[in-house]
Amino acid sequence: MTGGPSRIMSGPRGEEYHVATSRDSDKSYTCPACSQTIAPRVTHIVAWAVDSLMGREAAQRDRRHWHTTCWETFGRTRG
Ligand SMILES: [Zn+2]
Repeated sequence: MTGGPSRIMSGPRGEEYHVATSRDSDKSYTCPACSQTIAPRVTHIVAWAVDSLMGREAAQRDRRHWHTTCWETFGRTRG
């Protein structure tokens, strides 16, 4: 369901996240940044916390799907 290995990036609030690129999914997701739908087969970001109180497996189960642009901009701009 994810395309290729994840890498570690700094997330919107400065936490570290595993980040992978996802595509070829038949499911649609809701982006947590803009609350808009990510349509099936649209390449997008999948991110889950590196450090989670609930443990790594729980963090991965709890992964979020983001529009690529939302991931890059959410929480990083100061307006
Ligand atoms: Zn979005």
